[in-house]
Amino acid sequence: MRLRNKPWAIKLVNEHPESVLQNPDPEKKIDWAARFGNDHPIEIEVGSGKGHFITTLAEKHPEKNYVALELQTTAAGIILRTKLEKGLDNLQILRGDAANIDLFFAENTTDVIYLNFSDPWPKTRHKKRRLTYKSFLAKYKQVLKTDGQIQFKTDNAGLFAYSVQSMNNFGMHFDFVSVDLHHEKPEILEKNIETEYEHKFAAKGNPIYALWANFLS
Ligand code: SAM
Repeated sequence: MRLRNKPWAIKLVNEHPESVLQNPDPEKKIDWAARFGNDHPIEIEVGSGKGHFITTLAEKHPEKNYVALELQTTAAGIILRTKLEKGLDNLQILRGDAANIDLFFAENTTDVIYLNFSDPWPKTRHKKRRLTYKSFLAKYKQVLKTDGQIQFKTDNAGLFAYSVQSMNNFGMHFDFVSVDLHHEKPEILEKNIETEYEHKFAAKGNPIYALWANFLS
């Protein structure tokens, strides 16, 4: 999804380097504890879009730290506006490419990586760009703690089938799999935080696919 550039969002991002890290130097490890002012556990959403999911999560869990990793500056600015409005000190925005996630975070540091409605890249020749391609999984494994988890949601059946296969081939284990998340048991549903895309596709009656997986051997 490509958002139309919003000058106010780009300006806001440039005015708040304490909240948004833009294309950091890959040679230098980011000191997340210094940025957050504490060493609480970290969870990352890759491709946060306008950020409804990650800002809601950060608001619900002040005891944890959250990083929204997002390619687009305009999206980063929209997330930042919510962060500032809600006073979410436990949310940082990282404007960068998930392909560099292993350079942005030290090994064995992250509890959960959320992949929500990632771009499907349906053409086979683009499969290396899918955020569940094996090169991405290898980087997530590095960044996640041993018992860390990937939580993935999509409305795209093709991307879901591909991701299950890719994770299975990588030797990952599945803690939860649903081909219709919005009709799961109430105890699952009450924990679910909808993303912007999820809201839109579920309203059209599309099933939402979800899985939680880990790298434990
Ligand atoms: N997660 C949001 C949701 O569910 O509403 C947005 C989904 S949108 C389809 C995908 C988002 O991922 C876009 O905002 C896009 O800029 C971002 N994105 C795509 N590839 C990325 C990458 N390699 N690294 C970081 N962000 C990426």
